[in-house]
Amino acid sequence: MTLYLEDARFIDWRTLEITRGHVAVEAGPGGGVASVDDVPGGAEVLRCDGRLVTRSFAIGHHHVYSMLARGMPSPARTPQSFAEILELIWWNLDRKLDAEMIRASARACAIEAAHQGCTFIVDHHASPGAPAGSLEIIAEAMEEVGLSHLLCYELSDRDGAGPRDAGLAETARHLETHPGLVGLHASFTVSDGLLSLAVELARKFSTGVHIHVAEAESDETHCRAHHGCSVVERLHHSGALESPATILAHCLHIDDDERRLIRESKAWVVHNTQSNQNNATGWFHPRGLGDRVFIGTDGMHSGVLSATRAMYLEGRQVSGLAPLDAYRRMRRVHDYLQANAIPGDGENNLVVLDYPTPTPVTSENWPAHVVYGLASRHVHTVVSDGRVIADVDGVRNVDEEQVLAEARTQAQRLWKLL
Ligand SMILES: [Zn+2]
Repeated sequence: MTLYLEDARFIDWRTLEITRGHVAVEAGPGGGVASVDDVPGGAEVLRCDGRLVTRSFAIGHHHVYSMLARGMPSPARTPQSFAEILELIWWNLDRKLDAEMIRASARACAIEAAHQGCTFIVDHHASPGAPAGSLEIIAEAMEEVGLSHLLCYELSDRDGAGPRDAGLAETARHLETHPGLVGLHASFTVSDGLLSLAVELARKFSTGVHIHVAEAESDETHCRAHHGCSVVERLHHSGALESPATILAHCLHIDDDERRLIRESKAWVVHNTQSNQNNATGWFHPRGLGDRVFIGTDGMHSGVLSATRAMYLEGRQVSGLAPLDAYRRMRRVHDYLQANAIPGDGENNLVVLDYPTPTPVTSENWPAHVVYGLASRHVHTVVSDGRVIADVDGVRNVDEEQVLAEARTQAQRLWKLL
């Protein structure tokens, strides 16, 4: 089945070349796009009326379980450090999640992502009270809406041996049937034994680990005190950096030796500006890391354009980032997914943008439009794997009002337990 985009202004996401005409979009994983002279009669047609069309967005690091946290009651006392933010807010919440809450959260998140032009989510999930089957619930929720995914379960020793072993079992179960990663919380809650098991599991399934790295200075301090080395050195010694699928989230408090280790490894770094601002954990500096850096939202929301603008403005301050550099960093996640042959992020994932602009759009200035002008509200239609999954009337495949009503019910259940 081929979908025809009639009269599109197509922006090639790599070359930024803009061409006006019809575009044929092949359905299914790996489907391509091609410009065509004519639209055959009887074909499925989406009229674009000269609107801009380009590659849809992908989120490099998310926590879809955090959807039910929006507006939740404040913690018992105000956290005084990043460790307390985890203990009093996030670990208190994730321990209470059950299957119904996970499903409601993932469905609502998938809808929000689709509305904002996102068709792929790399997620990091934690539910120590209900690990079994959690990744399948999230996979189903995303697939129902029409999104593709790369999931992992957050392994940790923070809740003891039972939840840790259940997390390992859930990881193995998921990797038997889906592409995915081996999730680890962060160095300071992961024992040497668990780290070895995680790397072994990743090797067995030819994948990488997905771990928070030096999000706060305390992760480094803990590592040096307990393991006699930096966080990145510890991961390097474990073999975790040898996989081109490995994702290191944050990397805020790493030194120059750690930057060199990352640059010389195969691992990728994901940068989450708004979450760092929210937790007051520090600024991201790309110095010495090389090009394997992309961006995530870290559970804050599902808007890649908002995350890109925040990352760009932070980058202006920290390293003189140019709009084109920010654009490339927003798009690097596609290279990561392609390099690791992860299905679901092919060329047939597109957004049609209704972007009334006061200035011309050209190949040269498109990155500046992305960081200064373009926003989620300009997303008109979203095509995932060659099929329309959302447009201005809403998402196509699920009853949006029903999903959101159920999410509110589950949020109230969860909040009572906090
Ligand atoms: Zn995170």
